[in-house]
Amino acid sequence: MSRLSVVVPAYNEGESLREFHARLAAVFDKLDLAGDVLYVDDGSRDDTYAVMCSLRETDARVATLKLSRNFGKELALTAGLDQVDADAVVVIDADLQDPPELIPAFVQHWREGYDVVYGTRSARAGESGLKKFTARAFYRVMERLSATPVPRDTGDFRLMSRRALDALKRLRERQRFMKGLFAWVGFKQIAVVYDRDPRFAGVSKFNFWRLWNFALEGITSFSGAPLKLATYVGLSTALLAFLSAAWVFGKALFFGDSVRGYPTLMVVILALGGVQLMALGMIGEYLGRLYMEVKQRPLYLIDELHPARAQEKLENSARPAQSSAVD
Ligand code: UDP
Ligand code: MG
Repeated sequence: MSRLSVVVPAYNEGESLREFHARLAAVFDKLDLAGDVLYVDDGSRDDTYAVMCSLRETDARVATLKLSRNFGKELALTAGLDQVDADAVVVIDADLQDPPELIPAFVQHWREGYDVVYGTRSARAGESGLKKFTARAFYRVMERLSATPVPRDTGDFRLMSRRALDALKRLRERQRFMKGLFAWVGFKQIAVVYDRDPRFAGVSKFNFWRLWNFALEGITSFSGAPLKLATYVGLSTALLAFLSAAWVFGKALFFGDSVRGYPTLMVVILALGGVQLMALGMIGEYLGRLYMEVKQRPLYLIDELHPARAQEKLENSARPAQSSAVD
């Protein structure tokens, strides 16, 4: 029987986890394949890990992974996916914004031969107008800039076949923009449209500052367009400068030189200074990422790993809890 693993990154989701697992277990019971779930605790400060452990004790299909600190969702997800060796994997949030009940539909498409089945949101209940607007704007910008199209209004909620997962595992960059990496991998993909529910409990971990950085990450990881922008802004300002130089010379030749033009001078100096700083900043964004990449640090550190007991029986080789670095 083929096997399906579900990876759930969680950061301070103690309140949602039990409800989440109850719903996921109900879905597993109806599936005609062996399902197991890996909960990744991304350095939570509440009782998330304790809840995970108690779920593992009561349900043999539960595996848990605890990271040494909070690494952020992208890396928590990576840590989880690195552990998976099932025939297919589903990635889903712990806050019940993505309904686990959609998994059978994903599996259905996977059996039809799709390698990636992703959930596309048609509605975002419980999210502010501003968030909806910025999210939309972000997906549109990504679409224009990125060479590998990132599907619109699509989060991380998706199913991947084994070969798509193996391909994804080969992308070891430190600055991880998962949506883009998923898209980069390619293969036969299909969208399943669903309504995004409000959070079951707690608040979103992504405030605007984090979302802005997330957007920057996405754009810089998948597009060099901002770097080119500096070239074109520079070229057009240089052109403007030539034209105005001709104008200034002409005026001085025909009408004599009068010492005026302080405002023009200021405008030019300020505009050029601004453009230069902006271009420098843009280069800095890339340089900073290059710097992080060059250090070759491990992506994340594992504190504890407990495989699912159901899985251990299958493999007949119990892996002990371990502390290890993975890069
Ligand atoms: N998450 C995580 N590490 C973090 C932040 C979030 O593992 O540093 C998890 C979180 O527990 C949830 C998922 O990522 O399962 C999505 O987070 P959230 O619901 O806050 O994001 P949103 O749905 O608002 O985009
Ligand atoms: Mg959420």
